[in-house]
Amino acid sequence: MSDKKAVKKSGKNPTQAQLRGLLKHGTSKERNKAIKLLKQFESKPNNDYDDTAKKSDMHVKSSAFHRAFICFRCDKVKQCQVKVSWATSDGNKTICHGCYTQLASREDINKMRIANQKAGLIPQGFGLGLTHSDIK
Ligand SMILES: [Zn+2]
Repeated sequence: MSDKKAVKKSGKNPTQAQLRGLLKHGTSKERNKAIKLLKQFESKPNNDYDDTAKKSDMHVKSSAFHRAFICFRCDKVKQCQVKVSWATSDGNKTICHGCYTQLASREDINKMRIANQKAGLIPQGFGLGLTHSDIK
């Protein structure tokens, strides 16, 4: 059964999954309806892949049209011209620009921390396998 038929059949209370289907495959009228209804559902953010996020795995795409989509990470309905395709270990995910910015700055902060550690600004792992051969 297609999402469209399922929504018609279930009348006024389509499920979140059905609405997500409509958002992808419905007509513009159906999509608008799905956007409205989806905003009433609580979002379930997915931060499982944050730690492995790399800017190089993300591609920012902008189009001439506003096309609604659900961000994989913050799980919110987004209506904007910019969306980001993110290659995770679990395949390509679409995220919003806000999440992209957060992930990108996270990566920058991590890089800075590693660079600072290398420069000796932050003492690293005292007593964690530091031997005399490490000291030059
Ligand atoms: Zn997002």
